Amino acid sequence: MKVGAATDVGLVRHCNEDAYLVAADRGLFAVADGLGGHAAGDVASRLALETLDEELTADRLHDGVGPARLLTRSLASAHRAVEADTRGHPERSGMGTTAVVAHVSTNGDAAWLAHVGDSRAYLLDDGRLRQVTTDHTSSGPFMRSFITQALGASGDVSPTLEHVELADGDRLLLCTDGLTDMLDDGHIEAILVENRPAQESCDALVEAAKRQGGVDNVTVVVIDVGR
Ligand code: CA
Repeated sequence: MKVGAATDVGLVRHCNEDAYLVAADRGLFAVADGLGGHAAGDVASRLALETLDEELTADRLHDGVGPARLLTRSLASAHRAVEADTRGHPERSGMGTTAVVAHVSTNGDAAWLAHVGDSRAYLLDDGRLRQVTTDHTSSGPFMRSFITQALGASGDVSPTLEHVELADGDRLLLCTDGLTDMLDDGHIEAILVENRPAQESCDALVEAAKRQGGVDNVTVVVIDVGR
């Protein structure tokens, strides 16, 4: 398994509220997109990924409970961790974060994914890109969409789980909306099928998002299966 990751503030924002987690030895990968502005959104995304990192230990991932339940449980813990931090820091009220987390099995033949919000997972399989996750969004006035759930936001979260089978040569992409708001799926696919090393593909995706305007923070993780 070869992995690349990149995060960039973009061309308009002053603060990068995105974060990523890469723990390839555990087959664990995640991205998060914080909400709530300076000194809040970045806290939320970082805290959520720290919680996932602490909860999803190698021992737990191999103890038979099953990654699906563990991923869901760890996102619920991240939700509570961000909530608790907000209670301790009222100036951060309103902060929250999306998250999409993937666990690739040791032999690389499958992955479990769980997400909250509109950060996405895609699978490039035989040169075709497929969006694995479905955004937790609803459409509002003026063609705008808003996130219907976020870690740390009021109310409960119910992460959506996905299971994908993987084969050698497949590429998994985790990304924040700073990528997908700038590039359509065809554009993302065109970059991923060039089959450059994972880190180069990540850098190319970020550069392309910035060429298209870079209006938001952009974060990507590319996982090459079986290489
Ligand atoms: Ca964003």
